[in-house]
Amino acid sequence: MVPQAPLHERSVRYVKGIGPQRMSRLAELGIRTVEDACWYAPRRYEDRRQLVAIRDVAPGGEVTVRGRVLAAGLRRARGGRTIFEAALGDATGVLQALWFNQPYLARHVARDQELILYGRVEAGPRSRMIHPEVERCEAGDDAAIHMGRIVPVYPLTAGISQRWLRSRLWSIIEQHAGEVEETLPEAIRAPRGWPPLAEAIRAIHFPESWEALAAARERLVFEELLLVQLILAKRRAALEARRKPQRYRLDGPLTGALRHGLPFALTGAQERVLEELLGDLALPHPMARLLQGDVGCGKTIVVIFLMAVVAQSGGQVALMAPTELLAEQHARVLRQFLGPLGVDVRLLSQSVPKPARDQAASDAAEGRAAVVVGTHALLEGHVRFARLWLAVIDEQHKFGVAQRAGLARKGQEPDILVMTATPIPRTLALSLYGDLDVSTIDDMPPGRAPLDTRWMREAERSTLYALIRGELARGRQAYVVYPLVDVRGGSELKSATRMAQHLKRDVFPEFAVGLLHGQMRPQLKERTMLDFARGEIQLLVTTVIVEVGLDVTNATLMVIEHPERFGLAQLHQLRGRIGRGADPSTCVVVSDAEDEAVRARLEAFAGTRDGFLLAEEDLRQRGPGELFGSRQHGWLRLRIADLARDRDRLEGARTEARRLIAQDPALSSPDLAPLAGRLGRFQREGR
Ligand code: ADP
Ligand code: MG
Repeated sequence: MVPQAPLHERSVRYVKGIGPQRMSRLAELGIRTVEDACWYAPRRYEDRRQLVAIRDVAPGGEVTVRGRVLAAGLRRARGGRTIFEAALGDATGVLQALWFNQPYLARHVARDQELILYGRVEAGPRSRMIHPEVERCEAGDDAAIHMGRIVPVYPLTAGISQRWLRSRLWSIIEQHAGEVEETLPEAIRAPRGWPPLAEAIRAIHFPESWEALAAARERLVFEELLLVQLILAKRRAALEARRKPQRYRLDGPLTGALRHGLPFALTGAQERVLEELLGDLALPHPMARLLQGDVGCGKTIVVIFLMAVVAQSGGQVALMAPTELLAEQHARVLRQFLGPLGVDVRLLSQSVPKPARDQAASDAAEGRAAVVVGTHALLEGHVRFARLWLAVIDEQHKFGVAQRAGLARKGQEPDILVMTATPIPRTLALSLYGDLDVSTIDDMPPGRAPLDTRWMREAERSTLYALIRGELARGRQAYVVYPLVDVRGGSELKSATRMAQHLKRDVFPEFAVGLLHGQMRPQLKERTMLDFARGEIQLLVTTVIVEVGLDVTNATLMVIEHPERFGLAQLHQLRGRIGRGADPSTCVVVSDAEDEAVRARLEAFAGTRDGFLLAEEDLRQRGPGELFGSRQHGWLRLRIADLARDRDRLEGARTEARRLIAQDPALSSPDLAPLAGRLGRFQREGR
């Protein structure tokens, strides 16, 4: 027998029925090799073992029916829309199907054809499906593939039909599944009762039962998550092998004075997290930790403790924030706590006049400044540190991997702490940032004032304006937030700029109305924020620029216009600007949205102030890809696992990955060789 190339080297070109044209289409789906085809998972399944008779279809649910086309035709409706209509009959009845604006169906569906339709049946006098998925039965079709079984339905692309792909995958699986090399060692597979890989691959495509499918899926999901976790565990192991030169004095005069002078007691979570961070500083390898906690939970003070440790040990700290506003605010707060201890805090950002900026840079380079706060200006080539021991990155998701690494390179193996106020569920954090340790502040300082969130309709605008007027008249301040700065291309969105004018002239002439957006000159932005902070502006019309930063405790009202344009996490961040003082606050979202997904989002938002709950909900509603962006986390494009649905399996995969890497860092033992091979390919796919 001629030895065959392994499946991951065998192009699908050699599969019967796949020519050069289809090959490039398949490549769009990520199917280049036979191995790719094996891992190409269906997006859903249909039980076609017993189809429902048309007479028995119940409205509301999704069903699969089979029948013959009794009549079909294309017509034009008002407004230039086309409607393609077909009547499908079986021995028991007739069902009507409609498709809007899909005129090409007229070329594919004709009288007397056998069709399979899948969709939701509408309630009404006649059984009707709108936009069902349609599959044509063809003479000579292999009934065993497309009918009489649990049938896979795959994601498609132009030029590839469901039937064709299903037939090709069927023959690939028939021919090659047996050659699939086992990747999981027996010791992992056997105790969990998982099928061998070859069997799991067969069952994920053409399951014999729902139980077999579930078992196969569980095994394949685990393997995929394991690959991700192995990558992270390897990075982690490499990190732990590194050695840092800095040694810290954890208890000393500065930390003592800081604690003594603190106007409040740290919360339980703050104390616990501080212990975790100090523990990291004491380790021989650099810290790599994520500190997460909801807006207002008090991350800053914990970081200030670390800064005091660094300062009393003779090192330097850099704190990088994504906006000028945030950098300045940090500098202000740090000075408030560290200034009295004699610790120098310098600000390095574009808004600082050049001479002061140059002074700050030279103080950093010569080690005179213990703490340097800045924007990405810190990354510039001329910015150097004499002894950068700790690098802190705030709102880390606003920075790329390269920027974070850029800051780390300013020191020699500095400890790295990244912070985020966008809470993410812990299990997901483990996977997204699995090479980081994660610390979570999951409580809130006591005495937070109540914050009420209301959803108002456009028709209630006068009530809303009365609410604003009342608040301002009491000497409070308010935000009105818009999604966009300016209207382009006839969008119906009111622009912040136009609205600011309107509110100032027509609605609130007696109050000071200001405008703040991202495209303003830095000095003007600066001044506007300062005016708002001083209370000289009472009503601030603004954009997402306020999402991070502004800390004005007198602002007790926020109106969010077009909230449907914001994600849950962003709404939550925006709302974090109010409810910061001792008085009750109100957040109002104004929307006439009828869309179900938007309603769900706004209701969730109005229903809780807990960022972790909202994060769970956001994940459930939108999925991880959209949440975190696939550019930064390319490997989130997993083929089988779904980070929202399979979250609970992450922990197990992580434990297993760390165990494997601890035992055998290069995965070089013979029983791990297939897994190591697949890991290499998984990584090369640019994940
Ligand atoms: P964030 O985590 O959003 O950065 P901050 O660190 O800005 O939160 O803290 C929010 C506010 O709560 C600040 O005014 C801070 O001084 C205050 N604060 C922090 N910790 C406590 C505490 N344990 N008790 C009371 N107030 C606290
Ligand atoms: Mg903060």
